Amino acid sequence: MNAGNFAAPFFPCVIDGKSIDFKSLPEIEVVSPSNGQLIARIAACGEDQVDAAVQAARKAFDGGAWSKLTATERGRLLHKLGEAITKNATELAELEAQDTGKPLKTAKADMVAAARYFEYYGGAADKVHGDTIPFLAGFQVQTIYEPFGVTGHIIPWNYPAQMIGRSCAPALAMGNAVVLKPAEEACLTPIRIAQLALEVGFPAGAINVVTGYGHMAGAALTAHKGIDFLSFTGSPEVGVLIQKAAAENHIGCTLELGGKSPQIVFADADLDAAVPVLVNAIVQNCGQTCSAGSRALIQAEIFDEVTARLKERFENLVAGGWDEDLDLGPLISHRQKGRVEGFISNGGTDSAPLIARGKVSENAASEGAFVAPALFGPVAEDDVLAKEEVFGPVLSCISFKDEADAIRIANDTDYGLIASVWSRDGGRQMRLAKALKCGQVYLNVYGAGGGIELPFGGVRKSGHGREKGFAALLEFSQVKTIVLNHG
Ligand code: NAD
Repeated sequence: MNAGNFAAPFFPCVIDGKSIDFKSLPEIEVVSPSNGQLIARIAACGEDQVDAAVQAARKAFDGGAWSKLTATERGRLLHKLGEAITKNATELAELEAQDTGKPLKTAKADMVAAARYFEYYGGAADKVHGDTIPFLAGFQVQTIYEPFGVTGHIIPWNYPAQMIGRSCAPALAMGNAVVLKPAEEACLTPIRIAQLALEVGFPAGAINVVTGYGHMAGAALTAHKGIDFLSFTGSPEVGVLIQKAAAENHIGCTLELGGKSPQIVFADADLDAAVPVLVNAIVQNCGQTCSAGSRALIQAEIFDEVTARLKERFENLVAGGWDEDLDLGPLISHRQKGRVEGFISNGGTDSAPLIARGKVSENAASEGAFVAPALFGPVAEDDVLAKEEVFGPVLSCISFKDEADAIRIANDTDYGLIASVWSRDGGRQMRLAKALKCGQVYLNVYGAGGGIELPFGGVRKSGHGREKGFAALLEFSQVKTIVLNHG
């Protein structure tokens, strides 16, 4: 695969049931962040290609073969796509690992999750039903859940394969036809999965993928008058643009943005269980996860003990190329590396002393975007490392006095995505679960392996709307109320 420019394959768009190269358009070189090598090329699409994809989706939705399928038939197709991902998991995982740089074992786990999204929503497709509502005498009222029509999906580079599942599978299950704009940095597995969808029998136009830059293809999709609902995952800054464009077109949107999620450790916690999870929650995917546990809030009396244990683990973390299969891969790009290193070099002050750094593997390519993980503490509550999302393997340890103090610090952020609480006290667990301002609270665990079945989303700067679980099916549909006057 990495045999130089001429061998780098072109990854096409998928529009109206066909794979289209658009080779006359300017091309984007897809480079592996593990070693800087060119691995693929994609077209930098613009308004025309987005328009073709939206029209194909419209045709599929308005009377095309896709619109004629029953919910059960849609579910079967989603299931088949999940099976196809599983069957091709080795090829897909290697592609994902090269494209994102993530360790192969992580990419393999991502394919299990990607398949699971299609499996879960395949099973759920024919289980969304409305109500009958008692009303006036002589009336019969019922509600039904209908798809919006054509849904637009813009996804980031951190989990490309999982994201096509997470964003598109529930929309498809409800009967929408989708147009997906994956991230220009990493989009190869979503393209392959869209091709697999055609192979397992998805009708033309049900799943369309348009490649390109955010400010071109992304903006064109966002502004397109033929889109009935938008689903965005990415930065809060672009999230604002999406929401404004949705308002212009009088449509709804879900935004899944960033986080500064706290992991709260009380003195009565089982530290043997907590400490490895505290580390994993910030180093998984090299910290490039919206739900990364980037703040460790540690009760004062155990602060030194916990940070000593964390130090030992951080010093043994090693980042390396995807095929070295170590704890962490590189960041997605040198741009992100510069950003993360900026945060790290801002630390090391009185308000954010550096406790430990991990290492970069000796075998790692010098062209790779590697960053050694960093542990800081005690970080002052108003330090930039306590406040801003780094999106890299950087853990800020913050000391707190008591339960009230923990809640105050945890909620003192613009974000509100997820939180964990480590304590053996059942009353405290539930008090915190209710007091924390975020979309998910984990008690004595963090993230629970991604949990496709569990509704996921944020508040405030972390976005709004819910993905995953049954909740996502309701996001991608609208309730229609039917009132019959039977006399
Ligand atoms: P981004 O928001 O710019 O990109 C995410 C997606 O939006 C990509 O597909 C991109 O092409 C598209 N996009 C960009 N500009 C657009 C526009 N004007 N209109 C429509 N679509 C547009 O994120 P990034 O620059 O790749 O990363 C920057 C920061 O965003 C990261 O450091 C991190 O803090 C955050 N981020 C969050 C997530 C997440 O999962 N919540 C994922 C990636 C990045």
